[in-house]
Amino acid sequence: VKKSKKKKKSCSSSSSSQVAAAAETTKKKDERRQLTPQPLGSFGELRSVYGISRRVAENLVAQGYREPTEVQLGSLPMLLRPEIALGAEEEEEGEGLERGVDFLAVAPTGSGKTISFLIAAVNGIMRRRWQDKVPQDTHELEAVIIAPTRELSHQIVNEGQKILQGTGLRILAMNKHMQLSAEKQTLREEEGEEEEEESGSDEDEDAESDQEPASAKEAPQKKEKKKKTGSVAKADLLVTTPALLLNFLNSGPAGSSKVLPSVRDLVLDEADVLLDPLFREQTFGIWTACTNPDLRTSCWSATMGSNIESLATEKLNARAALLGVSPRPLVRLVVGLKDTAVPNITHKLTYTASEQGKLLALRQLLRPTAKDDSGPPLRPPFLVFTQTIDRAGALHEELKYDIPLEAGGSARIAALHGGLADAERSAVMRRFRAGEVWVLITTDVLARGVDFAGVNGVVNYDVPGSSAAYVHRVGRTGRAGREGGVAVTFYTKEDIPFVKTVANVIAASKKLYASTPTRFVKWVS
Ligand code: ADP
Ligand code: MG
Repeated sequence: VKKSKKKKKSCSSSSSSQVAAAAETTKKKDERRQLTPQPLGSFGELRSVYGISRRVAENLVAQGYREPTEVQLGSLPMLLRPEIALGAEEEEEGEGLERGVDFLAVAPTGSGKTISFLIAAVNGIMRRRWQDKVPQDTHELEAVIIAPTRELSHQIVNEGQKILQGTGLRILAMNKHMQLSAEKQTLREEEGEEEEEESGSDEDEDAESDQEPASAKEAPQKKEKKKKTGSVAKADLLVTTPALLLNFLNSGPAGSSKVLPSVRDLVLDEADVLLDPLFREQTFGIWTACTNPDLRTSCWSATMGSNIESLATEKLNARAALLGVSPRPLVRLVVGLKDTAVPNITHKLTYTASEQGKLLALRQLLRPTAKDDSGPPLRPPFLVFTQTIDRAGALHEELKYDIPLEAGGSARIAALHGGLADAERSAVMRRFRAGEVWVLITTDVLARGVDFAGVNGVVNYDVPGSSAAYVHRVGRTGRAGREGGVAVTFYTKEDIPFVKTVANVIAASKKLYASTPTRFVKWVS
């Protein structure tokens, strides 16, 4: 019954991609292996070679993307059908890839990582259900995507809805009151003992338990009685911040927690933040709760410290040991050079001497008439990053009345930060996306992942705290290769020691793209 994998097709080696792909994989024991997977030649090959559903392929066409980006052409073959992507290479090495691979991708901001992991997750669900002849209207949670902020998770849901149109699958954003189909697990000495399914979806509970993924049938014996906790969300893919899902998993009687054995695909978007001390325990909590032995984990970001990579590797190994399965190959893909900004942004460092100087400088940026010969001007809409919630609030108060009434007045400036209620945050996002707000003052809460189509620039009112923070903040502009983005960083006397980090990132980014006429994809382990 299990894993009745389709027979291997021989791959047309006609992929006309000009991007050289050199690769390595890891066996998770520190020896590294070069791989040369077949890159995706066109979006059309997703269907013709890798067999994604017609509907999903059409939905992609409807989005009007002409050609896959590097991260897409590199990652999709390996995620969809590693055995095809590697072709003969795999046979030679005898590496069992039929269980798929775990994956780690580092690729620039705005380069289309989202649809890469969404297509892979959706395809996995559809293929399994097709193989197991699961009826169309079944919903079972098979993919969990973790993102660090609610803004990013809602955006991923929106992208997902476009890809899922007409497929019958559902993607939902986690919320506080949502109930999921989970199994209850009593915490006990022997780890890894799973227990009873807590509840299916309200009407078709029986049907659903008949159709659990094949691997769930291998789960250890069921031990506890069913307990219903209200109606269960009908979702096949769930997008969540770490805390929301972990709260659900830990809710209920003390000494017990819930696990999600039906989940087969765990995606960590902005993985380096999710594995950072701030979110690490929560992320690991969810990861551990995904008890399916066939779980595929993938990590995505534009920045990835080597400590974070090791952490991910250790977790994968520990998890495999706990479940008594052998770890699957971890494949890593790096596009460009890690920790650099995209090339199509103009960077400016502006010395403002003092705090007061920052305010003056920002006011100057708000008045496009001001004579300024320091390169392209910053045109609204733009984002202004401050270091704290309080500073974002204070700056908003200060600037509120700077835009003349006839131009829309205070409605043109808004603040978004973690100090606001969810509804306010949503309203600000809506107004900014609609073009009603021209200047959005924020914190690093919006530094990651958020895709505003028309953002022309970014002001670092406060110097970012790390090179990664700089890369992500300025990466809110220049997305999908758009030209004309401007990034301005203010610094005072006190900032001088810290601005060096920023200057180094800018220099490294310029050098990389000057010395690398062809874009490149590199596989490492
Ligand atoms: P990342 O997660 O890598 O920062 P996103 O997934 O948010 O980037 O994508 C950035 C933007 O690029 C989005 O608006 C997305 O719709 C668009 N995009 C994605 N893939 C392509 C493509 N192949 N061609 C053109 N635009 C694309
Ligand atoms: Mg992203």
